[in-house]
Amino acid sequence: MKKCRFCDSSAIVRLPYANLSLCGEHFKGYYIGRIRRVLDKHKIHGEVLVATSGGKDSMALLHALSEISKVDDRANFTAFHINLGIFDYSRKSEEIVREFSKKLGVVLIVYDLKKEIGYTIPELIRVSKRPPCAVCGIVKRWVLNKVAYECGFDYLATGHNIDDISTILLKALLSQDMYTILRMQSEFSPPRNDIKLVGKIRPQFYLSEMENRLYAELNKIPVIGEDCPLSKGATLHKYRSLWDHILKTNPVSQINFIRSILKLREQMAAFKQPTHLCKKCEFPTESETELCAFCRLIDSAGKRNTETLGLVS
Ligand SMILES: [Zn+2]
Ligand SMILES: [Zn+2]
Repeated sequence: MKKCRFCDSSAIVRLPYANLSLCGEHFKGYYIGRIRRVLDKHKIHGEVLVATSGGKDSMALLHALSEISKVDDRANFTAFHINLGIFDYSRKSEEIVREFSKKLGVVLIVYDLKKEIGYTIPELIRVSKRPPCAVCGIVKRWVLNKVAYECGFDYLATGHNIDDISTILLKALLSQDMYTILRMQSEFSPPRNDIKLVGKIRPQFYLSEMENRLYAELNKIPVIGEDCPLSKGATLHKYRSLWDHILKTNPVSQINFIRSILKLREQMAAFKQPTHLCKKCEFPTESETELCAFCRLIDSAGKRNTETLGLVS
């Protein structure tokens, strides 16, 4: 292995897209620097809610943000975890997030889906008969925005990686799924108080799964090792391996692919942001119908009692 670009130690990682070889210590610094640059670029300040699932991406993000806040007090970070009620997987995830937040000294808010809305994710999947990851996505988006908005947070930070984002887009392009391409969130979206939409920041938008995993390993961050049991067999996993071949030919192809789509989208007249509020929950929706995707999901589950949604105080 080559030497680290910045010191005499042997490199433990090579980042082909940046033509950079780094030792463990310099990789940690590089990783935190990448996250900090995203916060700087979008002038993130104030109260930030960090969605923390217990997976490597969001746990690495929480750790890096906590490191940044030690030397820089422009923003205050609070961890947020949704217990989705996915059997043992959710129980273990909550436990890991609780222990790690405590260790970091970060305040944690836990939202128990069953208690708050009356359903777990497996129950919603069963009654709505929709694909597991679609149901989970609708619920998480709605809960994260609602809690961040109602608790007065300025921004919501979520953990992503470029492999997931580029694979979702690749699959969407190869299946003429324009909705996913139009709706895909980029690195930053500003708050829209008029429609109760909090600002969103995705500091790992251009970081890879390997980089998030390595950062977690080097810092001995506990993560839920297994994939969600409901996502098994998702076709997305098959598309993902396509990138291995493409990246060997062109290490910056993934970054360029996402940037190309974002540029294309900017120029599409049809690009729509959510513009109005759902008639039922009064949170933003881009849907043409009067109800947002979350409320339609809950309605399809048969319970129309708004009290179970915690909407009546
Ligand atoms: Zn070094
Ligand atoms: Zn709604």
